[in-house]
Amino acid sequence: MQIAVINSGSSSLKFKVFDMQTKEVLKSVLIEHIGENGSNVKNHHEALQSIDIDFNQLSAIGHRVVHGGEEFHSSTMINDIVISKIKELSSLAPLHNPANLEGILVAKDKIPNIPQIAVFDTAFHFHMPKEAYMYALPYEMYEKYKIRRYGFHGTSHSYISKEAAKVLGKDIKDINLITLHLGNGASACAIEQGISIDTSMGFTPLEGLIMGSRSGDIDPAIVLYMQRELNMSIDEVDKTLNKKSGLIGICGENDVRKIVESQNEKAKLALKMMIRRIKKYIGSYFALLGHVDAIVFSGGIGENSKYIREKVLQNLGFDTKVLVIKTDEELEIANECLGVLKNHRL
Ligand code: ADP
Repeated sequence: MQIAVINSGSSSLKFKVFDMQTKEVLKSVLIEHIGENGSNVKNHHEALQSIDIDFNQLSAIGHRVVHGGEEFHSSTMINDIVISKIKELSSLAPLHNPANLEGILVAKDKIPNIPQIAVFDTAFHFHMPKEAYMYALPYEMYEKYKIRRYGFHGTSHSYISKEAAKVLGKDIKDINLITLHLGNGASACAIEQGISIDTSMGFTPLEGLIMGSRSGDIDPAIVLYMQRELNMSIDEVDKTLNKKSGLIGICGENDVRKIVESQNEKAKLALKMMIRRIKKYIGSYFALLGHVDAIVFSGGIGENSKYIREKVLQNLGFDTKVLVIKTDEELEIANECLGVLKNHRL
């Protein structure tokens, strides 16, 4: 059985086909600069059109969808109702959901007869307790406007937690983990017996750890100060927090390889800040979980940088196993599709 996975961004389309018996990647295509000046791929339709495979061989297509809001707690067969709900959720993820939806619509148009399945970045965090996902804002902010912590990178945290259980030789229901997805975007997750009970990203992926270009946690009054005192527009503040902050903001660089090697004082500071923030999350998740079977490092930084791992683990104050697991969000999406297909046949 072959399952394709589409990760559709605003100007990119990642496409992978898996053989589900062997989990082998049969085809992997990345199309970038869609619709940009000088690009010969004008839109997502042309991008999909340009992929040279026999689409009739596919049993399903899994689509990465960033925001599932409070609607979607698990992977879901796509139909018109699901499409309109993903569209409605665009206000919560304006950069991501419309692009994900475009991938869905194009694939449905080109290959109408095979099941299309949505796999949500937020779904793994759906079962966080209410005290974890609520912000201490007026309650109606949650009731009326759905302002709450959702959490992201769920597909990755879910995948690496299951892989960690395999490595430990234990059932996921018998272990507690702290998983760290440390890439250009980064998040931590406290996982109790297979369930995400807290995570560092919140209403949007901006909260939590210090990332490549995102600030992570800051005093929210800074945002007001930027607007009131510095006369920054909403767009400027948005860009500052999401694109010009984090490691880039402190030292002008977000490639952790270069930052680790740099002798520049600001680069050293940026690293220390990033590491300190990760340690603070590990400490708080340890306090929540009580017992931690393993800390799991993943993502470009977590998988590759021994230096960062060692610094994060220095003087941790409690004893636990440490695992490094390569994440594979696309394979997890394909596995999720398999689950949805099986349920539909029952
Ligand atoms: P994305 O979130 O874009 O998927 P990745 O998971 O690919 O990001 O991670 C990108 C980050 O991983 C970059 O900061 C890069 O510098 C870092 N990285 C990759 N290889 C190494 C390495 N050997 N040592 C330290 N950092 C690394």
